[in-house]
Amino acid sequence: MPARYAIGVDLGGTKIATGITNFSGNILARRFVPTHASEGETAVIARIKESIRHIMDDIDASLEEVAGIGICCPGPLNPETGVVIMAPNLNWSHVPIVSHIVEEFGIPTFLENDANAAALAEKWFGAGQDVDSLLYITVSTGVGGGIILNGDIYRGRNHMAGEIGHAIVQPEGGVQCGCGQYGCLETISSGTAIGREAQNVVAEGGGQRMAELAGGIDGITAKTVADAAAEGDPDAEAILERAFMYLGTFVVSMLNILNVEKIVIGGGVSKLGDNLFEPVRRVVGEKMSDVPAKYTPIVPAETGDNVGILGAVGLVVKSAFRAPTK
Ligand SMILES: [Zn+2]
Repeated sequence: MPARYAIGVDLGGTKIATGITNFSGNILARRFVPTHASEGETAVIARIKESIRHIMDDIDASLEEVAGIGICCPGPLNPETGVVIMAPNLNWSHVPIVSHIVEEFGIPTFLENDANAAALAEKWFGAGQDVDSLLYITVSTGVGGGIILNGDIYRGRNHMAGEIGHAIVQPEGGVQCGCGQYGCLETISSGTAIGREAQNVVAEGGGQRMAELAGGIDGITAKTVADAAAEGDPDAEAILERAFMYLGTFVVSMLNILNVEKIVIGGGVSKLGDNLFEPVRRVVGEKMSDVPAKYTPIVPAETGDNVGILGAVGLVVKSAFRAPTK
């Protein structure tokens, strides 16, 4: 029987999401299990294998019908050797995950970092289906990204291209980032940064509505800021405006560097909608010289909560087909 399914595994620190799809990215079955990383890598790998068997059983698929298995997880990792080099949230170091899965199932298996996989999900099944090049930006607790050029992931020499969260956008007077530098994009535009900035505003005597909503300064998160902004609270709106003006400035740089066909923005914080997209688009309109790249569409991601599964599936599908051309 010819292969007609692909399996995607989104391996995170708290849960493992596994899905089986057809080649159009329609999810036919999905499973979520807790990762329980503290039990060690052998237990986690066993759970991944079990999840794969379960979703195949869910739709009565045989191994011959599955073209391959894609796995995405936070890096750094090596997609060529299939080794997760270091994953602090899993407590993994140099784990040859692809070998383990191939040993069990004997079908092609692929590994990619989650942000690159998300970019691929958008290219194959989301907002980027009509283009061959895009920059995907994910704004959630951190900021990450993936670059698609000529229909495929651009990984760079050491598989670390697209680490846009550490682009330095405020070198002087910026907040220190987890990477050690000051003023990285992630320290301004991430959900974590937005929550922290709101706490600063409240500490200085402003943002009373946010303090009320959160029941005190310590409870304030990006969600609080979003809720207050939805009510029209000017302090909350100002915080979001600042966070996303910097994101817009960064997008200007990337459009000048890459001249991609689309900018696609996803991640939990992108659910803010206009509060995010309006300042980003406005800054691009203001700061870019009048070149064609100025009019590049800046659009929301479309794969939603399935982005991880679909990104992993994209790894299988892209190996099975050439990228579609316009
Ligand atoms: Zn950084």
